[in-house]
Amino acid sequence: MGAESKNEPIPMKTPFQLEHRLGHRILRWVLSVTLISGILLGTMQIILDARRVSDELDDHAAQTMALVKDAATQAVFSIDNELARQVVEGLFEQNGMRFASITHPNGEALATKTRALKEPYYRPATDLIFDAERSYHSPLIRSADPEIVFGDLELTYDTANVAASWLERACLTFISGIAQAVILGLALCLVYHLLLTRPLLRIIHSLTKVNPDHPDDKLLALPRTHERDELGLWVNATNNLLVAIAENQQKHREAEEKVTRLSRYDNLTGLPSRETLLGFLNSAIEDDRRNKQILSVFCCGIDDFRSANDQYGYQTGDKILRTVADRLSEQRDGSHLIAGRLGGDQFVVIEKHLRDDYQAAATAEWLLQVFSRPIRIDDRQVFITGTIGIALFPPDGSGADKLLQRAEQTMTLAKRTGGNQFQFYVASVDLQIRERKKLEQDLALALPGGQFHLVYQPQIHLESQRIIGAEALLRWNHPERGLVPPDEFIPLAELNGTIVEIGQWVLEQACWRAALWAANGNPIRIAVNLSAIQLRQDTIVEKVLETLKRHAIPPGRLELEVTETSFMENLDDAVAKLKRLRSAGITIAVDDFGTGYSSLTYLKRMPVQHLKIDKQFIRDLLVNEDDTRIANTIIDLGKSLNLSVIAEGVETAEQEFYLRQRGCELAQGYYFSKPLLPEDFEKFVVSFHRKIIAHNT
Ligand code: C2E
Ligand code: CA
Ligand code: CA
Repeated sequence: MGAESKNEPIPMKTPFQLEHRLGHRILRWVLSVTLISGILLGTMQIILDARRVSDELDDHAAQTMALVKDAATQAVFSIDNELARQVVEGLFEQNGMRFASITHPNGEALATKTRALKEPYYRPATDLIFDAERSYHSPLIRSADPEIVFGDLELTYDTANVAASWLERACLTFISGIAQAVILGLALCLVYHLLLTRPLLRIIHSLTKVNPDHPDDKLLALPRTHERDELGLWVNATNNLLVAIAENQQKHREAEEKVTRLSRYDNLTGLPSRETLLGFLNSAIEDDRRNKQILSVFCCGIDDFRSANDQYGYQTGDKILRTVADRLSEQRDGSHLIAGRLGGDQFVVIEKHLRDDYQAAATAEWLLQVFSRPIRIDDRQVFITGTIGIALFPPDGSGADKLLQRAEQTMTLAKRTGGNQFQFYVASVDLQIRERKKLEQDLALALPGGQFHLVYQPQIHLESQRIIGAEALLRWNHPERGLVPPDEFIPLAELNGTIVEIGQWVLEQACWRAALWAANGNPIRIAVNLSAIQLRQDTIVEKVLETLKRHAIPPGRLELEVTETSFMENLDDAVAKLKRLRSAGITIAVDDFGTGYSSLTYLKRMPVQHLKIDKQFIRDLLVNEDDTRIANTIIDLGKSLNLSVIAEGVETAEQEFYLRQRGCELAQGYYFSKPLLPEDFEKFVVSFHRKIIAHNT
């Protein structure tokens, strides 16, 4: 066999063609052999029979002659024609007799008789074997004088009769021989089919079901009743082979996996190596490009790792690296971190799905802690620190290589200016984030340091021109920077959760103020902004109600302003809490309405009473068509849902006039007053109402 043909697959569909089946080949062979042997044996039998038949004919003639010999001798001896004739007639009683004569020695016939030769159709064939007729003669002698021949007896037989019965037997022998051969062949075939072909086909069928990738998944089914014969042995042997192949494949796969693991993952720490990490980074970049999110690459180096190695030895150095790697692999709650090792003392962490760069700074702080937490090795504590360079996608590059390179570069720079810190690739971003970080640290001191106070902005009922409420707004007087706008510090407080504490302080202050004003005969409704983070607190409802109670404020005097985003995250939870607040009598207002989802579905579910049109739509009211249309729509929506609408940021008389005649119920803005310190607010209320009265009279 040629070398090429060794691995050629055997076509699986053709073997089941009928003429190729083993059963049919067996049938052909068995039939040929039994037929040939039947024919040979039959022919032999027929030949022997023919020999026997012709011998019998001769015997029969000899007996007949012996029987009539005495009577015939008597007839020639006494020249008795009558006797001779009777003998001849007697001989002709026999069916096959063709010719009989009794003659004197001189040839003169005493009696003679002839019958015509029969002419059956088989004659030409049988005459070849038996001849057409057979003649016998015998000298007629008396026992008294045996030397004298008195005459001659001659007989001739027609062979047609014996040939006929011989032929009949020959045909029968022949036909039964063939029939036997055919029956034997068919029976053999059937047995073969039942015992071999059928179970074999079943085995072949289950063999085609074997999965080459996992050959032991579906082993061959053992054909029933063949458990102990050659087929059963064959199936068992094949199954053993399949299992062995599967085991081999498994070992092979494991070896392959080990090889790829070794090449793709760092040997010491088990973290992804640089190449693998670049792959992860590329797909993470694609992810965030699609989601329009920010991705951050942190390159982290251990500060002065070489001296740690020198001081503690290389084994300890390895343990330090492994500990850092283990800590990096532990996921931080709610973040999407992937860690890898670049080699030496350098690690990389990728963080996906960031909202802003400030979140990256929070992760960097967490990473610094990962390094600075004491490491226990044997009986001693080892202290190290890390330095982190940060590159952001998309601002700092769009390719994995570039981002990684920039993060590394930034880390090297940061190490030069001292360790245990993080640095962003772009200097201005770094500065800005550093400032925010500083502000966040300062914010922690604001509440205990008494740096907060509240200002109040009046809310005016447009039709009656009366002040019916005030929005409490938070102010932070920073010891160095002076007043910091809430838009700058509230998001920071929301990020680190301190808004919960700050918000409670605001509520406390506002209630205290409301109680004071009410006691002074000015029972005004106070609107307090409630952050999404506050609303998420499990105890928020109890806290609000408890505060009201403590200051003896009727719940109707408090309005809580919530933004759409704050209840969209967990609608059911928010609805449940707001419903409880509402049923206690507190008014709920949707702040910044129109800037978020503004969906009718949630408005219908929400227990709200007020919609606050955001100031961005009021600013360009009557200038920008879109803004005017949005303001109108919100006013109409409020009317149809039976909600009061408050316009905030009203700065001009035109805006106030338009809103009033358009049917907006309440307004708030610099046109009336900026947010005021409490004492100024009190004065403002008095002067505003006096002005209105004067104007009306
Ligand atoms: P806000 O709730 O939409 O508050 C209205 C903001 O618009 C206030 O800014 C207010 O001073 C300003 N404003 C009022 N009238 C006018 C006007 O006619 N023209 C213009 N251009 N602006 C006007 P502020 O006090 O700087 O507050 C900014 C945001 O900070 C607030 O937006 C609110 O979201 C948040 N905030 C303020 N105090 C608190 C608080 O105590 N708790 C919480 N959670 N958030 C607060
Ligand atoms: Ca507000
Ligand atoms: Ca607003």
